[in-house]
Amino acid sequence: MNDIPRHLPSDTPSLDLCDPKLASRFDNSFVRELPADPLRQDFPRPVRNACYSHVRPAAVAAPELLAWADSVGELLGIARPQAMTGPVIDVLGGNLVLPGMQPYAARYGGHQFGNWAGQLGDGRAMTLVEMLGPDGRRRELQLKGAGRTPYSRRADGRAVLRSSLREFLCSEAMHYLGVPTTRALSLVGTGDAVERDMFYDGNAEDEPGAIVCRVAPSFVRFGSFEILTSNDELDELRRLADYVITTHYPELGAPSPEVYARWFEEICRRTAIMVAEWMRVGFVHGVMNTDNMSILGLTIDYGPYGWLEGYDLGWTPNTTDAQGRRYCYGRQPEIAQWNLLRLAGALSPLIPDRADLEAGINTYGRVYGECSRRIMGDKLGLLDITEDDDALVEELIEALHVAETDMTLLFRHLADVPAGLPADAAGARLNDDALIAPLRPAFYAEGAGAGAHLSVWLHRYVERLHRDNEAAGARRARMNRVNPKYVARNYLAQLAIDALTDGDRSVLNRLLSVLERPYDEQPEHQDLALRRPEWARHKAGCSALSCSS
Ligand code: AMP
Ligand code: MG
Repeated sequence: MNDIPRHLPSDTPSLDLCDPKLASRFDNSFVRELPADPLRQDFPRPVRNACYSHVRPAAVAAPELLAWADSVGELLGIARPQAMTGPVIDVLGGNLVLPGMQPYAARYGGHQFGNWAGQLGDGRAMTLVEMLGPDGRRRELQLKGAGRTPYSRRADGRAVLRSSLREFLCSEAMHYLGVPTTRALSLVGTGDAVERDMFYDGNAEDEPGAIVCRVAPSFVRFGSFEILTSNDELDELRRLADYVITTHYPELGAPSPEVYARWFEEICRRTAIMVAEWMRVGFVHGVMNTDNMSILGLTIDYGPYGWLEGYDLGWTPNTTDAQGRRYCYGRQPEIAQWNLLRLAGALSPLIPDRADLEAGINTYGRVYGECSRRIMGDKLGLLDITEDDDALVEELIEALHVAETDMTLLFRHLADVPAGLPADAAGARLNDDALIAPLRPAFYAEGAGAGAHLSVWLHRYVERLHRDNEAAGARRARMNRVNPKYVARNYLAQLAIDALTDGDRSVLNRLLSVLERPYDEQPEHQDLALRRPEWARHKAGCSALSCSS
């Protein structure tokens, strides 16, 4: 297939991205193996019979490194740049394309808010190259905001600092939480202004521009297949499916009708796990269109996402979604399944037996159900959750809707609820105050009555814990491994954006390093684990976000 080595010695040193020795680890398999758009111009147009278009990043005024993820650099074998400007930053800002890189914009379509939107494609993202890391794995380096492509429609191909920082920060935070996600290597300021109408109210303003270098084995989406089937480009459909299977699902074997079916089922399984993990940590994607669904089951395209603060199944961070709430927290599992049905439709020319597609969808439901029950058991610290515990879980969720209760803090502090065995107080019931006290940090309402909505449930919970007869310390340790203390709360991201806009990198760097250990106590960073302050309740970027990015 290609002549790059499969594995490199484990002590392979990291090199400067521009070091010519690194070029031996560059590859362009997507470009080589799949059909290209024959035109090389970037004017917007419908593209036919192709999976991508060749593009060149458009130069920016003054690329400057704003943030760098060392662990992603290590995965790729790229050394941290020594200076904030220079040739490496020129590459990551789109001003320099290295020998061996064949940049492209991918063609895809998608269902947006439930409706077929036709061709979308990478309107501002460009994959520069694939790199083989020291671990032998292939990963794309993709710049988001690098200029116009044939898929830009009427937009400018650029991205603003606030949305780029949010993507950089959150994708890394999700990785450390253990959620399947794309990664980010760098955040580069462009030195150019980008005009955006953030509130869609006719008041466009100049904002600083930025480019994130995203990293993932592949950015192929459900929509990459939908566009081909909707245009009856069935040869291209098969080629893309074969490419994805051979390159990213080699364990399934050589493509064949049976392998296509098993592949679809595997995508369903991975998607179920991804969404169950979102629900575990309180992540709301905000734009679960089929063009934003990864064929590898990774969280992709961080836009107007948000973190659940007050536990509310109906909460959506996306202002465009405020009316319909299609993409609210509680509907994510159902929407992921709806999206998988769209993918099933797109793959149906390859998997003609409906029963195979139905089996995949059933796998989604089963895996999601199993994962989410197990996750809830882990979050509550139950040793062996069964269907008999469903009522306990449902009652908790109902209680959390009665009064605004911070999801992250509630679950984190549940481990501190005194669950001493009833025998030690001669059978006396623990009093409400003692049970509720550890949970106080989670309640948005102040006052003596705060938390009263949970007291009935807490008694039932403690009774249930007694059945497990596990030492409190052991239970707490287990719970703290699944209930994070630190998440990338929207208002924290906004504080990092405000500081970076003023040239101060320290807020972002501190957040990045704390979010690398989200399950650890880190008492010196306690201020980053508090519930959202009242000033942030209605401030732009801190609670609701527009799609403008
Ligand atoms: P998103 O909502 O970010 O997933 O984007 C949906 C579609 O709009 C994708 O095809 C994007 O490439 C495209 N898009 C979003 N913003 C821009 C922009 N500023 N310039 C060009 N295309 C864009
Ligand atoms: Mg997108």
